[in-house]
Amino acid sequence: MGKLFINLFAFFCCVSSFAQNVQKDSPKESVVTFGDDSIMIRRIADEILVHSKAYDNLHDLTKNVGSRLSGSAGFYKAEQWGLKVLQKSGADKAWLQECMIPHWVRGGKDEAVANLASQKKNLDVIALGNSIGTGPKGISANVIQVRSFEELDKIKDSVKGKIVFYNYKFNPTFINVFQAYGDAVRYRGAGASRAAKYGAVAMIVRSMSESADNNPHTGALSYDTTLPKIPAIAIGLKDADWLDSILNYKRINIFLKTGGHFLPDTVGHNVIGELTGAEFPDEYITIGGHLDSWDPAEGAHDDGAGIVHTIEVLRAFKALGYKPKHSIRFVLFANEENGLRGGLKYAEVAKNKNETHIFAVESDAGGFSPRGYSLGGSAEQLKKVQSWIPLLIWYGVYQIVNGGGGADISPLNANSNTPVAELMPDTQRYFDYHHARNDVFENVNKRELELGAVNMAALVYLVDKYGL
Ligand SMILES: [Zn+2]
Repeated sequence: MGKLFINLFAFFCCVSSFAQNVQKDSPKESVVTFGDDSIMIRRIADEILVHSKAYDNLHDLTKNVGSRLSGSAGFYKAEQWGLKVLQKSGADKAWLQECMIPHWVRGGKDEAVANLASQKKNLDVIALGNSIGTGPKGISANVIQVRSFEELDKIKDSVKGKIVFYNYKFNPTFINVFQAYGDAVRYRGAGASRAAKYGAVAMIVRSMSESADNNPHTGALSYDTTLPKIPAIAIGLKDADWLDSILNYKRINIFLKTGGHFLPDTVGHNVIGELTGAEFPDEYITIGGHLDSWDPAEGAHDDGAGIVHTIEVLRAFKALGYKPKHSIRFVLFANEENGLRGGLKYAEVAKNKNETHIFAVESDAGGFSPRGYSLGGSAEQLKKVQSWIPLLIWYGVYQIVNGGGGADISPLNANSNTPVAELMPDTQRYFDYHHARNDVFENVNKRELELGAVNMAALVYLVDKYGL
């Protein structure tokens, strides 16, 4: 999940400075360079748009492997699948990199029933990842609604023994929906402990979405270990609005039953393929996505798309006979969703081996039409990548903004100051599916998915050629 910051101004500035540079430089040289690159990127695009395996790979991953939360049987199946596909797609070498991963299980179907004097209503809910369960007997308590942590603090004396319901909506005025997510997700992440501090017995959070359906959206929480742990669930938006409308005039008692719990940490793996560099084999460019996904769905957009983007770049480079100057690593990271252990391990091994990582890029924002990149690096690096927009704009990327890379590559940036980037597709529909039961293959468009791979490949090609 990158942090994209809309900056059209930078884009227009950058386009004009590129044009000036072209004019200022020796016309022959700059025209030839620009021409070579645009021809090469066109070849990459044609290869992917005509022969892509991304959509078929996504079908295989979502339908034959399915959900693949860390520690689950699905995750181990996904590891083997990933290794095989990387080998088949032409990696010079491919291997599994061991790391310990958490093993949280849902422990059955999550239930919530609202009890009013006149009726009972089943609510569409899902326990948050890493949450403890209610125990087999469930929990029954009155609900108290708040719209912010500030409001919770104000009514702290009435929270004891209640279920706290955080009804904080996505801010619809943020055009980039990741900004709305970034703004609201603190209630999912920290809401349980903040409520437990005042004696709440459970927590319900409005799902991290602004979709028009009622599907609840899970996702990780983290407990403050100095406070009691309480069960936490997300509720679908229609049911959240219904609760809100009833709570306006009467009390509601809710019965909750969830069974989430941790099993001991277990061994998992990052799955890595490599194309060995012809000129600088000891300098690495990493491209990746995360292999794990939440359990209610198939993890098609999150992050099956990033996985098949990564593999498609490898396949296309091999098909074109492209020999990179630097070694390129294609990494299917373990455990992004509830621990980041894969990304941490990858950066740790890179540091221990004293590896030189010149760049890393991740796709973890869905398989929608590409729009841009966020980049975590110096001002000069940002400027250099922005100078390539005229080459990328034909394939959908028109803004490259200061931000960060994907979560899995952020430890590489933190440990060794590697510049990192994240593909930013159109954000309007991502949170309709994110961590919900409808994040399935059928909701991914083939062309949009392929264009993501085109842009990932083009950026990796440019960094390989020119460095950062
Ligand atoms: Zn993700």
